[in-house]
Amino acid sequence: MLELADISVSLGGRTILDGVSLAVTPGECVAVIGANGAGKSTLLKVLSGQMRPDRGAARLDGCAMGDIGAAALSRRRAVVAQSVALAFPFTAAEIVGFGAEAGGALGRRREAIAAAALAQVDMAGHAARLVPSLSGGEAQRVHLARAIAQLEAAMETLAGGSADGHYLLLDEPTASLDLRHQVETLSLARRLAGRGIGVVVVLHDLNLAALASDRIVALKDGRVLTNGPVGTVVDDALVSAVYGIALPVGRTPPDLPFVLPQTAPVGAA
Ligand code: ADP
Ligand code: MG
Repeated sequence: MLELADISVSLGGRTILDGVSLAVTPGECVAVIGANGAGKSTLLKVLSGQMRPDRGAARLDGCAMGDIGAAALSRRRAVVAQSVALAFPFTAAEIVGFGAEAGGALGRRREAIAAAALAQVDMAGHAARLVPSLSGGEAQRVHLARAIAQLEAAMETLAGGSADGHYLLLDEPTASLDLRHQVETLSLARRLAGRGIGVVVVLHDLNLAALASDRIVALKDGRVLTNGPVGTVVDDALVSAVYGIALPVGRTPPDLPFVLPQTAPVGAA
């Protein structure tokens, strides 16, 4: 289990996360939603072990994140940050190969895992392209493939193919993607969860969060406002509390909540 126990984070003299608790178990897909600046990316950084909380604890299977070495951590969880800047122009295949290597795969295995991960994000045809020359959405998919390659390699080398105990943390993975690739990326996240990986996906789009996840965690001003199943927690009151806009929540069959900006009362925005 990946968990945050009553964590707080201050940055630049301001409280960014305030008493946040959260637990993610293998096989579930949790969406973290919230307005801009709510603390979603900060939460993901603490959850991934990239940032230490000022108070409280982040733990992986009971072990404090800070006590797990970098190499061991990279065989347990993979992260796609909100924006990834590359200092050197690597090709897509190289970037994804680094992921496979971080997960513990070498030689032919490394190449095979990287190629399969690129294919999973529909980027097989761009393997030799330099990542800085790709479109924003294409580059985003390469970084997702890197994280997938890392987990695939880790699962193979560490756990003999078992996904149990592995986690994928994604910060706005669909932000630059076209409609088809938004849906495909979230389907991929769900399939990975279906194999036993614990997935945490930060999304600012409530509709995509409802589509992608089993459970929604809503952050507001650095606190958890709601944490519960998609079908029960998403309603007009949540939309109003989280985003500060009055939009009626509709339901698509069988029972997925959605909101449309078109239904905003004139002048609401
Ligand atoms: P979100 O991902 O929900 O949009 P973030 O977690 O990135 O929000 O940021 C939460 C708040 O913390 C924002 O108001 C942001 O400006 C602030 N913040 C983030 N990083 C720093 C930092 N290094 N120093 C000061 N404030 C920061
Ligand atoms: Mg963010």
